[in-house]
Amino acid sequence: MASEDQNAYVIVTGGSRGIGAATARAVARAGYNLAITYKSNSAAADEVIQAVEQEGRRATARAFDMATGNVEELFQAFDSAGLGQLHGLVNNAGITGPIKRLTEVDQAMLDDLFRINISSLMLCMKEAALRMSTARGGAGGAIVNVSSRAGQLGGAGEWIHYAASKGAVDTLTVGAAKELGGEGIRVNAVSPGLIETEIHAAAGAPERVEKMVGGVPLGRSGAAEEVAEAILWLLSGKSSYVSGANIVISGGR
Ligand code: NAP
Repeated sequence: MASEDQNAYVIVTGGSRGIGAATARAVARAGYNLAITYKSNSAAADEVIQAVEQEGRRATARAFDMATGNVEELFQAFDSAGLGQLHGLVNNAGITGPIKRLTEVDQAMLDDLFRINISSLMLCMKEAALRMSTARGGAGGAIVNVSSRAGQLGGAGEWIHYAASKGAVDTLTVGAAKELGGEGIRVNAVSPGLIETEIHAAAGAPERVEKMVGGVPLGRSGAAEEVAEAILWLLSGKSSYVSGANIVISGGR
């Protein structure tokens, strides 16, 4: 269903795998062109690009490490990719960092985590706002930040460092929604709970979802596609009066 403007594109950071890849596919099905970033898995990124192109959309992928990369240069590269006008940003790339208690964290891991999950995410919001703002000649648009239920639950015993980074994402969402609302830009967040992706194994806990699923009222983990649906809705005109919201997608947890 190509219902959206076919000369507009959406940026999905971390679009090669997991929630980002599911979002990229959903966004393409809705009729947008697509720019994705990934850290190093070019094979996974290529697969997403092929799927997007099969939907008849234009797409590009760019390797970009949120821990070290220059966000301004990233957006400049997308400006000249021939994808049309920027309509939306899905700030999805993120890591949990290793499972550690408060007494075990160190400066290097916090620097890495907070740069990826907060500083670079905020700079992506900035670059998107500069391009989409109606006060600067843009057509308006939507930003969706992928937060986490951990931001509200606290992450105790696992990763309060990660939870804190997502708490910052929640605050950035509220503040930016207020600052950018008068410039045609809606800003929202989603807070997924236990979603089946490779992020748990990357944190060193491949059994985590299986172990924790008993605490989910709906009795199961979530799929990346179930998060993507909410993100797509927040990007689309169907959520035209929604800004500053944070949709919890956690099966009731
Ligand atoms: P994932 O399956 O591990 O995928 C992570 C994506 O981000 C990949 O595209 C990866 O690229 C990219 N990425 C990782 N580190 C990066 C870096 N330093 N710079 C740039 N890109 C990087 O993760 P996911 O579970 O889909 O998580 C996506 C978002 O949802 C994250 O913000 C996460 O915090 C949030 N979330 C997830 C869950 C869950 O249960 N899965 C729950 C709540 C919130 P490569 O493919 O190149 O590695």
